[in-house]
Amino acid sequence: GGGGGDNAKAKKETGLGLDATIEDDFGAWYSQVVVAGELIEYYDISGCYILRPWAYSMWEQIKDFFDKEIKKEGVENCYFPLFVSSARLEAEKDHIEDFAPEVAWVTRSGQSELDVPIAVRPTSETVMYPVFANWIRSHRDLPMKLNQWCNVVRWEFKHPTPFIRSREFLWQEGHTAFTNKADADKEVRHILDLYRRVYEELLAVPVIPGVKSEKEKFAGGLYTTTVEAFVPATGRGIQGATSHCLGQNFAKMFQIEYENKNGGRSMVWQNSWGCTTRTIGVAIMVHGDNKGLVLPPRVAPLQVVVVTIPNSKLSAEDSKKLNDTAKAMSDGMIDAGLRSKLDDRDNYTPGWKYNHWELKGVPLRCEFGPRDMEAGHCVVVRRDTGAKETVKLVDLPVRAKEMCEEMQADMLKRATEKRNASVVTCTSWDGFVEALDDCKMILTPWCETKESEELVKKKSQEDSDGGAAKTLCIPFIQPPLAPGTKCFITGAPATTWVIWGRSY
Ligand code: AMP
Repeated sequence: GGGGGDNAKAKKETGLGLDATIEDDFGAWYSQVVVAGELIEYYDISGCYILRPWAYSMWEQIKDFFDKEIKKEGVENCYFPLFVSSARLEAEKDHIEDFAPEVAWVTRSGQSELDVPIAVRPTSETVMYPVFANWIRSHRDLPMKLNQWCNVVRWEFKHPTPFIRSREFLWQEGHTAFTNKADADKEVRHILDLYRRVYEELLAVPVIPGVKSEKEKFAGGLYTTTVEAFVPATGRGIQGATSHCLGQNFAKMFQIEYENKNGGRSMVWQNSWGCTTRTIGVAIMVHGDNKGLVLPPRVAPLQVVVVTIPNSKLSAEDSKKLNDTAKAMSDGMIDAGLRSKLDDRDNYTPGWKYNHWELKGVPLRCEFGPRDMEAGHCVVVRRDTGAKETVKLVDLPVRAKEMCEEMQADMLKRATEKRNASVVTCTSWDGFVEALDDCKMILTPWCETKESEELVKKKSQEDSDGGAAKTLCIPFIQPPLAPGTKCFITGAPATTWVIWGRSY
């Protein structure tokens, strides 16, 4: 994309576009692009955003994929209440300790104070598990696999950002119970792989699957697995989605016991897993450019837009033919399984339409003018590269479909190359802060203690003004760790490689 000057110029000509650029002010660029791209409308409560159809449609794509996959595993959808009593919310100590500062409470109805305030769910472990205890009586009731698509509220104190960190967000939360840890472990990893696929296959965003450190794991759980994404423009990691093994902590608190095969009493093993509308924000940050959104074809609400280039010299008859042909082109692509439409508004110029759809990130633009009509072809322009290709009308549905697939693959490839170039290895503190300031993630040998993580946080905070680093994850795919390797920060024996970074 062009620099700020180009953006300002484009905006002046068409009234469309962004005046901030990724390079100069990423934060301003992001808040402009989500509004100008018609994904988000700001709202008068901080941290709450309106998801416009353009955004909601992307969420539906993600939802359709994931919902289908979990149903293959026998997961059933359900719906539990938005509210939770304080008694239940506070039953699991570690859990509430972490969530307490972010819980929103209802204290009044109309003019009267409630006798006992009730909380709005920040997540539904404590909403669901009391009834799990009723429903799970025998080993025959297991495994139990429930999921709900809903909203949750976390009154975040960190700076809110559309999609990425909001106070109310949409997600799915899966809650499952098993007779044994091995089955629970297996599911944790399967779900995590589905999250990886949401990012890589749908959103064209590479992620690093791994385990969270003890410090960063889900409150009250046994261990947390994560897919970590990275935003090269800001050098920040972001927790993409998490799949937790809760172990038996919640089962103990909520007495989720059953009669085992031998007639004795056993406690269930539980998992919970969630993926939110944050996914959309990550894709915008990773792929967007100074012209606006660049949407991966698989989730784009519209994959192709056909724009006619009318000519005032055309006869009424030819004008109609141009439009009819363009409509037939679009319909042909719909029949081929693409999401396509003809922008036949006559109150906008073709140039304005190009800018408009570029801003909204539509993967392919099909330009069609009188000369194209004569020649029986059109010009297809790719949103990500701007590459133009002349395509015969008879070939259009097949070629447009291929071009979407090519673009989807190229976007993931480019994003992966950028991400890979953003990982630096440090075996001592030397170069750590420099790498952070250079917008990198850092792979280090590590001793896995909480103290060392605190130390890194403190030192990275002190040594630079870009903010502290934390562990993003212990990647499942590990480089070899030579015997005798020392922790980069404490010098104690290293037990693993871990990835550090600033994060959202
Ligand atoms: P958790 O239940 O805390 O594991 O959260 C599940 C997932 O929700 C995390 O992995 C994040 O990707 C995402 N998430 C957490 N907080 C927010 C937020 N405030 N807005 C949007 N997504 C969030």
